[in-house]
Amino acid sequence: MRIIHWFRRDLRLEDNAALLAAARDAEGEVLPVFVLDDALLRGKDVAPARVQFMLESLAELDARLRQLGSRLILMRGEPSEALLQLARAAGADAVYFNRDYTPLARARDQRVQQKLQAAGVRVRTFKDLVIFEGDELLSASGQPYTVFTPFKKAWLHRIAAAPPQLQGKPKLAPLPQLAVNTVALPTASALGFNIDQSLPRGGETEAWRLLTHFKQSGAMRAYALQRDFPAIEGTSRLSPHLRFGTISPRQCYAEAVATLSYPFPAPRSFSPAASDAKKEGADAWISELIWREFYIYILYHFPHADRANFNRAFDAMAWGSGDPELDEMRFRAWCEGRTGYPIVDAAMRQLNQTGWMHNRTRMIVASFLVKDLWLDWRLGERYFMQKLVDGDPASNNGGWQWAASTGTDAQPYFRIFNPTLQSERFDPDGAFIRRWVPELARVPNEYVHAPHRMPPSLQREVGCVIGKDYPAPIVDHNVQKEEILRRFKRCQGAG
Ligand SMILES: Cc1cc2nc3c(=O)[nH]c(=O)nc-3n(C[C@H](O)[C@H](O)[C@H](O)COP(=O)(O)OP(=O)(O)OC[C@H]3O[C@@H](n4cnc5c(N)ncnc54)[C@H](O)[C@@H]3O)c2cc1C
Repeated sequence: MRIIHWFRRDLRLEDNAALLAAARDAEGEVLPVFVLDDALLRGKDVAPARVQFMLESLAELDARLRQLGSRLILMRGEPSEALLQLARAAGADAVYFNRDYTPLARARDQRVQQKLQAAGVRVRTFKDLVIFEGDELLSASGQPYTVFTPFKKAWLHRIAAAPPQLQGKPKLAPLPQLAVNTVALPTASALGFNIDQSLPRGGETEAWRLLTHFKQSGAMRAYALQRDFPAIEGTSRLSPHLRFGTISPRQCYAEAVATLSYPFPAPRSFSPAASDAKKEGADAWISELIWREFYIYILYHFPHADRANFNRAFDAMAWGSGDPELDEMRFRAWCEGRTGYPIVDAAMRQLNQTGWMHNRTRMIVASFLVKDLWLDWRLGERYFMQKLVDGDPASNNGGWQWAASTGTDAQPYFRIFNPTLQSERFDPDGAFIRRWVPELARVPNEYVHAPHRMPPSLQREVGCVIGKDYPAPIVDHNVQKEEILRRFKRCQGAG
């Protein structure tokens, strides 16, 4: 028996549910394939950053497969056609793959499944992208959770009762000669992408280097204390790896639990309200892994949230200033990091230059776009998808709808981040700002969060004249805030 393993968001050999099942069932006669899908490569949300990260991860995957005596078959085209062609050429009986849960992915996978099954090729799918999928965690009344805390509680109970078992590498046989149209691994530029960002490296090796560093440097232990400060390397940087599956959530969870010094699996008493810092750090980090699963779960159960407000009461929201040109100008200033709010500008420049942004600043810039510039969260969501190396439809949508107050368990609409206060609190000495906004390098701490307040003589002295070297704020937070509050209240009244 021969089985095709279709790689998608699982670009690793270790602890890969579908790949291991394929290797077991076919006694090693596995055809590992990745299909470069033009529908995705030309999609409106494609990011050069993610293409580059994916290509690097595929190169390593191929090298690792070769170490096991196999190799990666790379095809280009529509997945069902490519898989059918491969199945026929290799005489494969079945295609195995790991499930994905976004509305787009589910529709595609259903089409692929129908086409393959109609041609007599069996399809089996597996849980791998998450530890618990949509239907495994439901409330006592059988409904999906829409609030994070009870979801997390159910998740932690379930994991104590049914701990995930980590699996190793598969045993694979050499590939047969195949008469199919394969392609060599292209570069991003050959695919038409211009990489102008300095991006994190892809691949399984890098994922493990990051996780090991996160633990050994003490950052995991100190996570609860450090995670909110963008100038500090206080988070794992694993998001693109979890996005592309160069590491599994089970592996991350197991490493965190090991840090808690618990025996794996965690006991029932496993409590997020731990007292010592070491425990709090890993507990808080596990919470973030659960947020990731929560947003995947929400999009699975409530697919309308992919394009629309999760909370339909806000469908009546009037976005914008009423002047499309002004809105466009403000949006471009936000994208390019020229709003005159240093924390917003630093974060947007970090995104543009590196494809990654810290969680705290993601919340700040998202809130600013929606509540200070009055722009529809979907504009920011799309811009993030086009730039982020970890751009993930579920987490990105969840994060944006949280910040916009339109989501499930979101920030209440009347809690509006003041960007200057956020900046003073989370970048107290302006180190993050100065790193990404060099115009402000010589601005004293006292003014670094609001440089337009500098007296003109000081502006000249430090070489940062407002309006010339660095913009004046494009809006007044206090004025903007009042108007957006009125609009939110009107929607609530209407809903
Ligand atoms: C507006 C907005 C948009 C976002 N877009 C994305 C996105 O497209 N892709 C993405 O992976 N994350 C997104 N996030 C969540 C979060 O900002 C990133 O996951 C995190 O900054 C990644 O850094 P890290 O790997 O160092 O995280 P760590 O702090 O080390 O956390 C570990 C892992 O947990 C997950 N995680 C952490 N925080 C969150 C969160 N709030 N929601 C969901 N998962 C989380 C990530 O997989 C992360 O790698 C978004 C958040 C906001 C507010």
